[in-house]
Amino acid sequence: MQFHHHGYVSGDPRVQPAAGVGINRPSDLPDEVDVLIVGSGPAGMLAAAQLSQFPGVTTRIVERRGGRLAIGQADGIQARSVETFQAFGFAERIIAEAYRITEMAFWKPDPADPSRIIRTARALDDPTGDISEFPHLIVNQARVLDYFAEFMANSPTRMSPDYGLEFRGLEVANEGDYPVSVTLLHTAGPDEGQERIVRAKYVVGADGARSKVRESIGCTLAGDQANHAWGVMDVLAVTDFPDIRTKCAIQSGTGGSILLIPREGGHLFRMYVDLGEVNQGDNRSVRNTTIEQIIAKANDILHPYTLDVRNVAWHSVYEVGHRLTDRFDDVLPEERGTRTPRVFITGDACHTHSAKAGQGMNVSMQDGFNLAWKLGHVLEGRSPESLLSTYSAERQVIAKNLIDFDKEWSTLMAKKPEEFEDPTELENFYVNTAEFPAGFMTQYAPSALIAEPAHQSLATGFTIGKRFKSAPVVRVCDTNPVHLGHQAKADGRWRIYVFADGAPAGSSGVVADFAEWIANSPDSPLAATPSDADRDAWFDVKVIYQQEHTSVDIGAVPAAFKPQVGPFKLTYLENVYATDPSADIFELRGLDRGGVVVVVRPDQYVANVLPLTATAELAAFFAPLLQAGVHEAV
Ligand SMILES: Cc1cc2nc3c(=O)[nH]c(=O)nc-3n(C[C@H](O)[C@H](O)[C@H](O)COP(=O)(O)OP(=O)(O)OC[C@H]3O[C@@H](n4cnc5c(N)ncnc54)[C@H](O)[C@@H]3O)c2cc1C
Repeated sequence: MQFHHHGYVSGDPRVQPAAGVGINRPSDLPDEVDVLIVGSGPAGMLAAAQLSQFPGVTTRIVERRGGRLAIGQADGIQARSVETFQAFGFAERIIAEAYRITEMAFWKPDPADPSRIIRTARALDDPTGDISEFPHLIVNQARVLDYFAEFMANSPTRMSPDYGLEFRGLEVANEGDYPVSVTLLHTAGPDEGQERIVRAKYVVGADGARSKVRESIGCTLAGDQANHAWGVMDVLAVTDFPDIRTKCAIQSGTGGSILLIPREGGHLFRMYVDLGEVNQGDNRSVRNTTIEQIIAKANDILHPYTLDVRNVAWHSVYEVGHRLTDRFDDVLPEERGTRTPRVFITGDACHTHSAKAGQGMNVSMQDGFNLAWKLGHVLEGRSPESLLSTYSAERQVIAKNLIDFDKEWSTLMAKKPEEFEDPTELENFYVNTAEFPAGFMTQYAPSALIAEPAHQSLATGFTIGKRFKSAPVVRVCDTNPVHLGHQAKADGRWRIYVFADGAPAGSSGVVADFAEWIANSPDSPLAATPSDADRDAWFDVKVIYQQEHTSVDIGAVPAAFKPQVGPFKLTYLENVYATDPSADIFELRGLDRGGVVVVVRPDQYVANVLPLTATAELAAFFAPLLQAGVHEAV
C-alpha cells in the first residue's frame, strides 16, 4: 500500500485523499451524473467501487431498498473473486471471516439398504493445487457488499449508494451531453412516493433477475420455460450428520437431494433442498413451501441421520431457470458499428441460472469489473467511446458458457442415483471441471483489447485473453517475497510487466532500450498521460529480473521502472522485482529468457505478449485505445 507520498497520513491509510468529484460531494443525488448505476447487488457495487477510482467521473448508485442488504442471497465466493478482492484491498479480511472449502463429500443411497445414505466419495476442491493461490470461500453476499461500500467510501470520490430510490424507466436521446433521462421513485424518506428525473451520460442496469433496465432497452431473456425450485435455508441445528462442516452433495434413495454448504462462523450452514421442476400451471404455489416442509424433506433425505433445527437465520424458495439476455447494452443488432451504447446491463439482469454452482454473485461481479474501467477511461477522456462496445461482446460469450456449464451441473445434481450409468459421474464432473466454476476458464477473444497470440510462445503461462495468473517474486527494494499479481490494485490502470533478459540491471541492451522507449518515445502509450499527472497515473510499469534480489543494483535500474510520484516527486521503488529462487516465475510461467513484455488490462486480463524489441507493435496495440490526455488531470 502506497501512502505518505502526498504528505504524512496519521489515520487509516486505506482512506485515500479526496479528489475531483469527491471534494464536496453532494449528499443528495444531483440532476446530472456521468454514470447512474441501478442496483446495489454484487454487479452494481463492484462497478461503483471501480468507478470510485476515477475522480473525474460523477458516478451514483441508486437502490430501491432503504439500506444495505442484511441477509440472504448468495454465499459462494470463487477463487477468481478472491483474486479480485485482493485488487480492491480486502481479500485478507474477508478470508479471515469466511468459511474455506477444501474438499467436497458425496453421499448416496447405501446399496445394502437404499433407505440410508453413506459417503461414497471425497473430492479436493482444487485437485491440481495450482488453480489459484486464493481459496474458495463461503461468506454472505451482504458482507461482500459491505467491503465494496467501505472501499468506495474511502476512495477519492467518497462514494456511497443512494438508498430508497427505485428505477422506473428511461429514455435515450440522440444528442445532448446527458442523453439518458431516468425516472426514479423515492421508496423511502421524506420524498417517499415522489418521482424525479435524473439525466445521465451512461446507465448501468445492475437491478437483478427481474431487471426493469433490461426491459426499458427492449432486451429479452431467452432460455428455460420451466423453473427448478430449491428450498434454501440458513440454519443453526444439532445433528449427528458427520460431514455437517464439509460441503456435500447428498442424494437419497427416495430421490431427494441436498447441497450442503457450511457457512462462516463455525456453526451456521446452508442447505439447498431440491423441490423439483415447477410445472407451468404451478402458479408459484411452490413458493408457499414452508420452512417446516423444507426441514422435514431434509430429514427424509439425510436418513438415518437427523437434523434438529434450533434457529432459522434465513430461508427462501429459490426458483430459477437458465436464461440469457440477447444483448448486454442498448445497441440493436442492426445498429452495431453505427453507434456506441449508452445503457448497459450486468449480472442477473443478463443471465440467470441455478445456485448449484455458486456462480451468481461471482459472474455478476466480473460483468461489473469488465465494464466499469472502460466507462472510467472513456469518461476521463483516456479512451474513445468505441471501447464500450467491447463489453457486450466479451461478456455475452462468458454468460453463455456459464449457463451451459450450470445446466450440465444442476442436471447431474438433480439426477436420481439409479439414473447414473457411472455411479462416479457426479464427483468426476466436479473434479474435471473445477477450473470453470472457480472462474479461470474465461478467455476473451482477440479484439481491439485482446491481441492475436502471435508471440504467445514467449510467455506460455500468461495466456492472452485469460486472467493474469500471479506467481511469487522478490521485491528488490525491501527484499520482501511477494506475489507479483497481488500488487496490482483496482485503480483503473493498465499494467506493463517487463520480464528482463538475463543481463544484470543497468547494462545496455533490450531492457535499457525498452525502458528508454517506454519513458520518452512519443509513440509510447505513456506519452498519452496528462503532463501534469504522475507519470504512472495511467500505466503501472514493472520490471522483473532473472537474478536473485541480492544481485539487482536498484540504483542501476532504468528510471522508467522507478516513477516519480506525488507533489514531492518521490521515487517509487516498489516496481522492481527479482526472481524468487524457490519458485522461479520464468519457469513457472514459461517466460522466454530473452525477455518479454506482458500487457495486462485494468480488469486483470492479459491483453498482449510481445518481445522486448517489439515497441512498434506495442505502440500500434495501444494507439486505437488511447486519446492523448489533453484534459487537466483531476
Ligand atoms: C432471493 C435470492 C436468493 C438467492 N440465493 C442465491 C443463492 O443461494 N446462491 C447463489 O449463488 N445465488 C443466489 N442468488 C443469486 C445471487 O444473489 C445473484 O446471482 C447475484 O446477487 C447477482 O447479482 P446482481 O448484482 O446482478 O443482482 P442482485 O444481487 O439481485 O441485486 C440487484 C439489486 O438491484 C435492486 N433493484 C432491483 N430492481 C430495482 C429498481 N427498479 N430500482 C432500484 N434498485 C433495484 C435490488 O434491490 C438489488 O439490491 C439469489 C438471488 C435472490 C434474489
